[in-house]
Amino acid sequence: MTATLPLRAELRGLEPYGAPQLDVPVLLNVNENPYPPSEAVVADVAAAVAQAARGLNRYPDREALGLRSELADYLARESGVRVAPEQVWAANGSNEVMLHLLQAFGGPGRTALSFAPTYSMYPEYARDTATRWVAGRRAEDFSLDLDQVDELVAREQPSVVLLASPNNPTGTALPQAAVEAVLEATAQVPEGCVVVVDEAYAEFRRTGTPSALALLAENPRLAVSRTMSKAFGLAGARVGYLAASRELVDALRVVRLPYHLSAVTQAVARAALAHADALMAQVGSLRSTRDETVAWLRGKGLTTAESDANFVLFGAFDDRHAIWQGLLDRGVLIRETGPEGWLRVSIGTPTEMTAFQDALVEVAGL
Ligand code: PMP
Repeated sequence: MTATLPLRAELRGLEPYGAPQLDVPVLLNVNENPYPPSEAVVADVAAAVAQAARGLNRYPDREALGLRSELADYLARESGVRVAPEQVWAANGSNEVMLHLLQAFGGPGRTALSFAPTYSMYPEYARDTATRWVAGRRAEDFSLDLDQVDELVAREQPSVVLLASPNNPTGTALPQAAVEAVLEATAQVPEGCVVVVDEAYAEFRRTGTPSALALLAENPRLAVSRTMSKAFGLAGARVGYLAASRELVDALRVVRLPYHLSAVTQAVARAALAHADALMAQVGSLRSTRDETVAWLRGKGLTTAESDANFVLFGAFDDRHAIWQGLLDRGVLIRETGPEGWLRVSIGTPTEMTAFQDALVEVAGL
C-alpha cells in the first residue's frame, strides 16, 4: 500500500545529494585527504573517545566552548588572526554550519546569492530553509565579476551571500579586494546582509593567497567558514566551524538543536587538533602534489583552472563522460562536475596520482 505523504512540493521527485560511493582502488572524487590519521593520532583519538564514553549517560557540553577555544587557537596559528572562543561556532561539518547560517539569516521571503560554478550544496541549503536562491555567473577564469556582484546585490537585495574561496569545483581563491568589494556592495542592503566566505580548502592555498579571516575585525557581517574534513583528514568525524562576530555567532546558537555536537565528536576533534602541526606538514606535501599535477596536465596540453585547493579542474573534453567512465574502468574515480567538458580530480598520494595519470594518458590518448 502506498501512503500519500504531505511532501513539500519543491522536494517531490528529488534524489538525495551525493557523489557515487563506489568501491574503487583509487578514490579521487570528493576532495578527501588521502592520508588516514597517523597511529599517534589514532591512539589519542581512541583514548579521548574512551574518556568521553565514561560520561555518555550525560548530554554533551552544549556550548562546546573547550573545542571552540582550541579552534580559535588553531586559527591564530594558521592565519595569524586571533578571535575569541565566543567568535567561533562549530557543528557537524561545515555543511551544518552553513545550514545554521541560512536558518538564522535566510528563510521565507529572503534571498541567498552566490556565483556559479560553485559548491552544489548551496542551493540545497537554500531550498531546505525556504530561502530564495539566486546564482550569478563567475567570469571565464572563474573569478568574481565585481560589476555583476554590484548589479545582482542591488537587484536581489540578498540577506546572505555565499562565496567559496578556494571555490569548489574550480579551485579559485578570491583576492581580499573581491571580498571587500562584496562587503561594500552588501552594505547597501537596508535589512543587512551576511557575507559568508566558505574556506573549506583554505589550508591548501598557495603562498601569498590571503584568508578572509583578516577582514573579521572590521566586518561584523562577515562569517568565515572552515572544516576539519579536508586539511585535517577528518571527513569521517564531521566537524566544521566558522569565525565571525559574537553577535553573528549568538544568532547561530539560537537555531542549533540542543546538544547538536556529540561528546564523541567534540573529543575526536580536540584530540586531532592537538596534532595540528604534524597534520599541516602533510598539507604541505599535498600542495606540492597539486602543483605537480597542474604542471603535468598543462604539459599534456590540457587546460587547468588555477588551484588553491586540494583538487584540480581540468579539460576541456568533447565527451567528458567517456573520459570519466574510462578512468573508472581503470579503477580511478574522479568527478564529473563543473562547466561542460571539464572534470575535477582530487589530489591523492603520489602513487594514486601516477595511477590517475597513466589511466588518463590511455583514455584520452595524450
Ligand atoms: N564547502 C565546500 C566548498 C566543500 O567543497 C565542502 C565539501 N565538499 C564543504 C563545504 C562541506 O564540507 P564538510 O561538511 O565536510 O565540512
